[in-house]
Amino acid sequence: MSTHLPAIDPDDVVGWVTQHLDDLACDEVAASPAFRGGQAAADAALADLDVRGYASRRNDVLPGDRRGATRLSPWIRHGLLTLPRVWHAVADAPARDRTKFRNELSWQEYTRHLYAQVGRSLRAPLRFEPGRATGDWDRAPWPDEMACVAASIGELERDGWMVNQARMWMASQYVVRGHGDWWEGEQHFFRHLLDGSRFANGLGWQWTTGMATGRTYGFSRSQVMKRAPELCADCELAHDCPIEEWPDLDRASRRESRPATIGGERTPGWTAGPDQVLRRRPPDVVWLTAESLGDDDPALAAHPDLPVVFVFDAPLLARLRLSGKRLVFLAECLADLASRRDLVVHVGAPAEVLAEHDPAVTFTPVPGWRALSRRLQPAVIHPWPWLRRPDGGSVQSFSAWDRRHDDPEPPRQPRLDLGGGLD
Ligand SMILES: Cc1cc2nc3c(=O)[nH]c(=O)nc-3n(C[C@H](O)[C@H](O)[C@H](O)COP(=O)(O)OP(=O)(O)OC[C@H]3O[C@@H](n4cnc5c(N)ncnc54)[C@H](O)[C@@H]3O)c2cc1C
Repeated sequence: MSTHLPAIDPDDVVGWVTQHLDDLACDEVAASPAFRGGQAAADAALADLDVRGYASRRNDVLPGDRRGATRLSPWIRHGLLTLPRVWHAVADAPARDRTKFRNELSWQEYTRHLYAQVGRSLRAPLRFEPGRATGDWDRAPWPDEMACVAASIGELERDGWMVNQARMWMASQYVVRGHGDWWEGEQHFFRHLLDGSRFANGLGWQWTTGMATGRTYGFSRSQVMKRAPELCADCELAHDCPIEEWPDLDRASRRESRPATIGGERTPGWTAGPDQVLRRRPPDVVWLTAESLGDDDPALAAHPDLPVVFVFDAPLLARLRLSGKRLVFLAECLADLASRRDLVVHVGAPAEVLAEHDPAVTFTPVPGWRALSRRLQPAVIHPWPWLRRPDGGSVQSFSAWDRRHDDPEPPRQPRLDLGGGLD
């Protein structure tokens, strides 16, 4: 059963989420103290973007004012900042910082291409078994008594975010040394990260623990001393550090089975979606999903007079059990959008709600959206605003993919000229 929810009070988003979505969250509903959802917050973050020093400081963890990371990821992940827009925003930055930063945007795009191609196969090791350190580990995979673990996981659970370096440390610690189940670790990140996505998170875990390439990232005290020295200074295990030495790593074993589509796609266009607007019928609403909540969403931008529908997918959310922070972030995005557009929010099964409408929607390269769209046959489908349009080739290696997609400049206007719209 689906419920049409009352309008979100922008001054009490936490109260609204607590009242309507509390039973879907895995923890107490609270806002992230570090990030706000919404186009206004995303635009402000982009306006403040300064990548000078990014190349040399991106991996610094603590103190916080040494960090070079831009913290744009929650808004990028939910489509409030499209990759082409962010790419062009650093056009005038110093060459070394611009190149490094754009390389990371390319990683984001690559993870989307990979997921579009292999889909849910990303839930199994892609090509190798996870790397493991030899020897016993007699603590929890993430021991609270290690200051580096407590600080990183604490930031994840409080703010819903971590720098890339800390994500690599924690993934390696959990699986390689701690011998934990990688999918359980991935899920913990996914529940709490405001930027949590199956594509970037899934690949991040696979890449760090050696499942994607066969090369396993080892974690030891020397990295913490270099990137966050204050943690070791205050750690209760400072004189008995369980990660003092570099781990001895088992050789990664290659898997017999791997996703067939990792080497290339089955049908041309499967990965990329349409390259022009597909029109079946006149639409009566715009359907937005959590994958694309920004004003630049092509369907939203192309139909400025249509009401907008968003459905909190209750069956999916009941399975995922996201943290309250993630739900609040999404509700903040919706509250902000409602200041400009006629927005109707439901909780329930999207197929049921949308069966009553003829939606215009943006193609979205994730398995859940594909399944729903096959069932619904939306009235109009707009192309996804790719940074580099997938070519259907192999997604086995980032560097080979990157060389193949070495376009000098992505489109400045990812949206197509729509001509006379139907609405
Ligand atoms: C185990 C693990 C899990 C991760 N989970 C996620 C996730 O769920 N969602 C997510 O967006 N990123 C994930 N990443 C990638 C990366 O850590 C984050 O994108 C980055 O830390 C976000 O912070 P930022 O915006 O300051 O990044 P910056 O360094 O400022 O980079 C700018 C943007 O580039 C993209 N980016 C940077 N590094 C990567 C990368 N390695 N892979 C993909 N995109 C990247 C992001 O969109 C980021 O916002 C994960 C990495 C690891 C190792």
